[in-house]
Order: sequence, then C-alpha cells, then structure tokens
Amino acid sequence: MNNDTIAAIATPIGRGGIGIIKISGDHALFIAESIFRKAVIKPDTSAVLDSDAFHPLSSHRLNHGHIVDPEKERILDEVLLSVMLAPNTYTKEDIVEINTHSGHVVLASILNLVLKQGARLAEPGEFTKRAYLNGRIDLTQAEAVIDIINSRTDKALEVATSQVKGRLKESVESIRDSTLAILTEIEAAIDFPDDVGEIIRTDAIMDVLEEQIIGGLKALLDHYENGHILKEGIKIAIVGRPNVGKSSLLNRLIQDDRAIVTPIPGTTRDLIEETLSIRGIPVIVADTAGLHKTDDPVEVIGIAKTKEYIDGSDLVLFMVDASAQLTSEDHTICETIGNKPCILVVNKSDLVDDDFEIETPAQWADYSSIKISALYGNGLSSLKDLIAKVSIGEHQLEVQSTIIPNLRHKMALDRSLLLVQSAVKEIREATPSELIAIDIQEAIDSLGEIIGITTKEDVIDQIFSRFCIGK
Ligand code: GDP
Repeated sequence: MNNDTIAAIATPIGRGGIGIIKISGDHALFIAESIFRKAVIKPDTSAVLDSDAFHPLSSHRLNHGHIVDPEKERILDEVLLSVMLAPNTYTKEDIVEINTHSGHVVLASILNLVLKQGARLAEPGEFTKRAYLNGRIDLTQAEAVIDIINSRTDKALEVATSQVKGRLKESVESIRDSTLAILTEIEAAIDFPDDVGEIIRTDAIMDVLEEQIIGGLKALLDHYENGHILKEGIKIAIVGRPNVGKSSLLNRLIQDDRAIVTPIPGTTRDLIEETLSIRGIPVIVADTAGLHKTDDPVEVIGIAKTKEYIDGSDLVLFMVDASAQLTSEDHTICETIGNKPCILVVNKSDLVDDDFEIETPAQWADYSSIKISALYGNGLSSLKDLIAKVSIGEHQLEVQSTIIPNLRHKMALDRSLLLVQSAVKEIREATPSELIAIDIQEAIDSLGEIIGITTKEDVIDQIFSRFCIGK
C-alpha cells in the first residue's frame, strides 16, 4: 500500500463558520508542527499573547493557535488543530485536523501550505479506503459511510449507521465461518478418505449447511427484498392530461413530506423533481408534461421527455379528473404507461358525490385506484399508504431489520446460495468430495467479496470513487 501522507479539505466548499483540512499519514504530525504555532494565552484576559513553535502537541486534544507560513512567517488563520496519533484514528494512521474559518481562499491557502510540506492531495474516499485497507473497517462498513452521507430518510440513516457498526459484516462473517468449517471437514474427507469419508454425509453437517448457511443466506436475501427500497428509494412520475391537478398534488406532497435534504439534481432538466419521504421511503417525484398529440415542437420535446421519464420510473401516478369525462388523451396516456406499476389517482373528488365511482375501461381494472382531492387534501394519507404498499408490499410496511444488503451484496449472496445449494445436492448424490469442495470454496470467496476479503481491486476502486474528496 502507498504510505504517503494525504490531505484534503473535508468540508463543503463555500463560505461558512468552519472549514476542516484533514491530513493522514506518517508525516501528518511533522507537517502540523512545521506550520502550527500554539497560542500562549495571557491569564485573566484570554488575549493571545504570543505563539510557541515548540509546544508539544498531545494526541486527541484540541490545540488553539495559528497556521503560519514558515517561509514568510506570515499568519494565515487562527485555528483549532487536533492531532490524533495512530492507531486509534479513522485511518489507523496519524491524523491531523485543522479547523479554520471557512472561505475558499483561506482553505485553499492552508491546503497548499500542507501540500508544500510534503502531503499529497487525497483522492475521493481515500481516508475511508485507508481505514478499510488498514483493517479498521470492512468493505460493508466503508460502503455504509457513503450511505450515511447520502441518507435521504431517517430509516435509510438507521440502516446505514447499523451497517457502520458492523451488523451486516457480522452476519456475513458468521455464515462465512460456518462455510469455512464445512470446507475443513470436506478437505479432511479428501485427505483421509478411509477415516472421515462418510463424515460429510452426516446429519450434523447437513444441518449446518441447510439451517445456518442456506437459512442465513436466505434471511439476508429476504432483508434485501423487503428493505432495499427503503435504502435506495423509488422514482415516481405523476402523469395526466393538463389541468387534472398534477402540480397541485406535487405541491401538497412537498408541503407534507419534503425530505430535509437538498433535492437531488434532476436527470431530466425540463421536469421539476422533488425529493420526498413517503412513509419512510425516499421518493423522487416529478410532475410531467401532458402526452396529447401536438405539432408544437417545444411540446413534442416535452412529451418525449415525459415518455422517457415514465420509462425510468418505478411507479406512475396516473391522474384523471373525477369531474370530467375521460378523453382520448387519457387513453393515450394509459397506453404510454404500458406495464409500469401504476396507481390510478382520481382527483377533484370534492366536485363529485361521495359514492361516485369513475367508469374506466376494462384494461384499467388491474390498477389500484384511489379518490383524492389535491386541492383540499382529502385521501392524501390513503394515497401515501397505497404508494408504500405498491412499492414495498403490504406486509412489509414496517421493516424492522436494520440489516439491509445493497445490490452488490445481494448478487454475491445469490451466488453463494446457489453454490451451497449445489454442494448439498452433490453431497446427497455422493459426488466426489473434490467437486463439492470447489463449490464450497467459491461460496466462501463470494461471501468474502461482500466484506472485502476477496474483492477485486476494480470493484474496490469503484466503491470508493462514489465518495467525495476529504472522506
Ligand atoms: P396540472 O395541469 O395537471 O398540473 O393541474 P393543476 O394542478 O395546475 O390544476 C389545474 C386546476 O385544477 C387548478 O385551478 C387547480 O386549483 C384545480 N385543482 C387541482 N386539484 C383540484 C381538486 O382536487 N379539486 C378541485 N376542485 N380543483 C382542483
């Protein structure tokens, strides 16, 4: 591993109260000592009297002082500097953090000074990558760090913090350990066929394979099926002809449920996308243009974008007007939705009698439907329940588990499950132990990929490239 000392600005660029520069590596302390002058405070007045270049910096303490350009003896800023000596640090290396005022020039000047003293600019996620490479965290915990940063709902944050604590890692490790124990038995059977040849066909071994390993893998895969939407979120398109009330619904959902995060920039610039939290599910929702036939070139582009957006959505809210007859445009929209999961939202229910039922063509019978009034908010709560039900299934509204594998984990779990199931079949069919050992070994490797024991370098690089610089 590359042991050079890395540095980066760890806080967002812009003006603010505090900005942090982080340094990690063997020279971190040397760099800090060469540019930091600890303040000497005059008793009683708290005034900074002088600075002391030779004051020792103790570990895991905040030090008040100045960053000074040693060549010019020029003060760049008054700072709080912390030194954290290895191994009890985020990266398991010496770490120095400089809390400065946050402005582009001050942060860039101090970072430049740090780089001039011999540090190198950190790559995205490199601090966390070092934490992983130095064995402080496994790959699932490293992935959870980025999940914490990207969390859009309380539930997603809860899952990510549990993963940082190592709950997913522990589950995978435990299944992998049981599989390793089985491999040891099989290898013994290969080495000493006369003594232990039959041992792998015993009930005890089959119990471990079927209950602990296959059962454990299936449980984790169930957690993925039930929970991944809570982690990854869904994309919803509100479609309907002009004036049915699409914007009114979007506005109402925003008022109730706008996620407390900056909206994620939309991929489709012409559509307004909002990030919401509906029943704990992170939702990106867009109000789309109509889909009527038109020759207007601008509208034609808008319609093409809407079709594209519907294709990329997980769920469509197809809105019609309860107070008006269905039109050919409603039918065109329905055709465009095709087989996408869809909820028929009958809006403006305030304009019709309570027992009003909309007459819809037979092809629409498969849609879940709901009556609402976007203007007055009637039926909004039931609509949210329905969105959650259609998205994650009725019985899974309350996902208790905080262990939710991601897609990368799921693919490795799927592969391990197939291999172990095949090994069980081979044991029953008295296949030669050597062949069974190959399947079991591959299952172990696949589980190792999840936690980072046998993960290929390009996969690791890809994971850390999702990070920001300074984390
Ligand atoms: P969009 O073109 O589909 O986005 O429709 P808008 O949200 O702009 O609504 C069109 C008109 O219908 C506006 O005057 C709204 O106030 C009105 N409207 C929207 N929802 C309702 C509703 O539930 N009841 C009633 N009575 N009017 C509504």
